[in-house]
Amino acid sequence: MLKIVSLFLIFMVVLAMFGRLRLPGIGRKDGSKGHLPKPRLCPDCGRYNLRGGACRHCSNHKG
Ligand SMILES: [Zn+2]
Repeated sequence: MLKIVSLFLIFMVVLAMFGRLRLPGIGRKDGSKGHLPKPRLCPDCGRYNLRGGACRHCSNHKG
């Protein structure tokens, strides 16, 4: 019986870890749920800017 209890505890810990991993990225409470954030696009060149901030594509061609 102890084995079953320990397995259950491990299962709960794994679930908690998965929950923690999901929290900072996708699981935001504000806004509508189930709505994935749109990929960031540079307003100047229209390319993907996943990191945010200065667009590396534009910074390369600046001058
Ligand atoms: Zn750009």
